[in-house]
Amino acid sequence: MEKVHNGTANQAAIILQITFGALIAAMLFWMLESYMAVYFFQNAGFVHDWLIPHNRQLLFHRVLVVILFLAFGVVTGIAVSRGKRLERQLKELTELDPLTRIYNRRMFIAFLEKEIYRSKRYKEVKRRCDPALIMFDIDYFKKINDEYGNKSGDSVLVAIASLVKKNIRSADILSRFGGEEFMIIAPETDVEGASVLAEKIRYLIAQHDFEVVGRVTVTLGISVYKADDTLDSLVKRADKALYTAKKNGRNRVETT
Ligand code: GH3
Ligand code: MG
Ligand code: MG
Repeated sequence: MEKVHNGTANQAAIILQITFGALIAAMLFWMLESYMAVYFFQNAGFVHDWLIPHNRQLLFHRVLVVILFLAFGVVTGIAVSRGKRLERQLKELTELDPLTRIYNRRMFIAFLEKEIYRSKRYKEVKRRCDPALIMFDIDYFKKINDEYGNKSGDSVLVAIASLVKKNIRSADILSRFGGEEFMIIAPETDVEGASVLAEKIRYLIAQHDFEVVGRVTVTLGISVYKADDTLDSLVKRADKALYTAKKNGRNRVETT
């Protein structure tokens, strides 16, 4: 609801701004025409005044032009604000997962590529800026779907996404990697930092009371960027760590 309200406020602001611009343009036109009337026709006899002409035809013409300016401003404002709204919708459609409204897999890849590039680019610099990757997967999610229905399963995905998003740093990037698998890119984070973050998320979810389904746990795998890592090798190591953690009993964290 808030988003819709903000969108409408933004649209109104854009329309107002452009209409205001048109109003300024109309006023400039009025002044310019007034000046020209005095300059060119001062001896012509029929214009004997300056800012507001007594000549009705002339006054009518000026008012009409001002109205046209304003109408143009409003129409342009509406068109621009619609264009911006479409642009925003398109961005959401291509960048966000429709169910959980966190970044989708495509954005995850884009962000991770950027982080890996940064690591390689600045590897000579003393203060390294290597990212860590935390992959996590909901435990026995199939059972949740089977027991409570797919709608409840979906609501667990939404709740987990919003819970995690609220509890990580704004620099950390949360995305939905696949069905019930999520990824966090934690920039400039070492193994210790990533372990603390992963354990925090594990605990946060394990002690949360989910609507309808009650308790849900997740299992997490960590990989930290090493020299010569590629996107694939980094993701593969996180996946391997996750697999090991599942094998070792779930609701736990492993690192590779
Ligand atoms: P594990 O503890 O080993 O991870 O077991 P699991 O049951 O979670 O794993 P499994 O891979 O067997 O099942 C994943 C399930 O997630 C199966 C699939 O139907 C469900 N799923 C994937 N995407 C969605 C979704 O968007 N909504 C819902 N409700 N279910 C989904
Ligand atoms: Mg899975
Ligand atoms: Mg699972």
